[in-house]
Amino acid sequence: MAQRKVRVRFAPSPTGALHIGGVRTALYNYLFARQHDGEFIFRIEDTDSTRFVPGAEEYILESFRWLGIPFDEGVSFGGDHGPYRQSERRDIYKHYVKQLLDAGRAYLALDTPEELDAKRQEVQNFQYDASTRGGMRNSLALPAEEVKRLLDEGHQYVVRFKIEPGEDVHVDDMIRGDVVINSSILDDKVLYKSADELPTYHLANIVDDHLMEITHVIRGAEWLPSSPLHVLLYRAFGWADSMPKFAHLPLLLKPDGKGKLSKRDGDRLGFPVFPLEWHDPKTGEVSSGYRESGYLPEAVLNFLALLGWNPGTDQEIMSLDEMVRLFDITKCSKAGAKFDYVKGLWFNREYILKKDNAELAPDFDKILRAHGIEAPMERVEAVVGMMKMKKINFIKDLWPLCDFFFIAPETYSKEDKFVRKNWNENAAADMTELAALLERLDDFSLESQKAAVDRWAEETGQKPWNPWRVALVGTGKGPDMYELSAFLGKDETLRRMRKAVEILK
Ligand code: GLU
Repeated sequence: MAQRKVRVRFAPSPTGALHIGGVRTALYNYLFARQHDGEFIFRIEDTDSTRFVPGAEEYILESFRWLGIPFDEGVSFGGDHGPYRQSERRDIYKHYVKQLLDAGRAYLALDTPEELDAKRQEVQNFQYDASTRGGMRNSLALPAEEVKRLLDEGHQYVVRFKIEPGEDVHVDDMIRGDVVINSSILDDKVLYKSADELPTYHLANIVDDHLMEITHVIRGAEWLPSSPLHVLLYRAFGWADSMPKFAHLPLLLKPDGKGKLSKRDGDRLGFPVFPLEWHDPKTGEVSSGYRESGYLPEAVLNFLALLGWNPGTDQEIMSLDEMVRLFDITKCSKAGAKFDYVKGLWFNREYILKKDNAELAPDFDKILRAHGIEAPMERVEAVVGMMKMKKINFIKDLWPLCDFFFIAPETYSKEDKFVRKNWNENAAADMTELAALLERLDDFSLESQKAAVDRWAEETGQKPWNPWRVALVGTGKGPDMYELSAFLGKDETLRRMRKAVEILK
């Protein structure tokens, strides 16, 4: 068989905000597609109308726009395998359900929800399968006339997949190898419901993967238990030859303790589990997002890429292009990956350091404006450049470190430890002398100040830097003094120095 073009898909259900695990799934699909010159498809799996949440689809699209992960085809992108929203494909699914019914691979079940409940009460761990279906109300157990009568009377039905027991089903998984499950443990899954004329996830998923010519199904480990059923469906349709290869990604685990990462872990430990802030339209609850919390999209992708995979070296920082080059789906771990959100902070710090100051400046400008400060963008950029190496996790962390660049200290408090320690009885006189020296400088550049002040300090044995910092900052923080005074300029520098002398004496 000729090599097929690699086609992978991300197929979320629009049931709410996109979980961060879903973002990692999409990222791995994207990396896989790009490294194989393949295509990446965005499909919306919205056949469960009871779980549909308005706004979720747009939220998911916006998340990937922010992250910089493009799709080649799909909802909102177009393509010639559409429609890509499952709710718009009803007739297609009906056709394939009929095909399974005609081939005897599926059957109608007319059991009412009450009857099923009663059965579950009566038999512990009741499962609808080869051993029980004979005693239920379905087209295999009931006489044909009875089935016809019920349908004519307008009874609702579901279509169930007829699973033959006692067969080892093999799933060829790129990460987990040959996964074998005996068909006897599977139940006759519902594939279609007459009540809403819609297929269930399983049927729609298989039909679409086939029609959309998907070659590799890369998805979360939570779908591993469904995969034998999916293999059987492929075979029942006669599509075994073009069955995609599977890869079930490692689960994301809680940062501490055992179990799956949940939104509650994020609330408890203070990190987002969603890419963007999410406003739940039903409850009104607002959940934090990576974007609004101040993460850079590059940092989020880099962090996620290494949850469940690594390049086999110590390299941690990598661009999307490098990830495309290095990623190897077969080297993903089988075991779950702890969601080390502290490492996520480290990535953000590293990416802030790497990024151009000019690119970071607009974000800091927003924060300045929120504090009522309007400054020319070059000055905002200069401050970011001077201060970003102070181990900040987020650009917003710059504000408390940088306020004095824009706001002169009002009061000089001796309560402040740094002030108390560094403003001694000579300080006022020394600062007056230093101010006079600075005033005589025509060139107020960093270099010119440094030359003059260093010479003066050497000649007089003065150590003016800490009291000078008290005068310009009001406390013990900030960059190199020359950088600061050059930034403030001559007038503002002298003004602050004289004010400190006046207040502190
Ligand atoms: N709609 C499923 C989900 O929400 C897709 C699972 C799959 O990729 O097969 O994750």
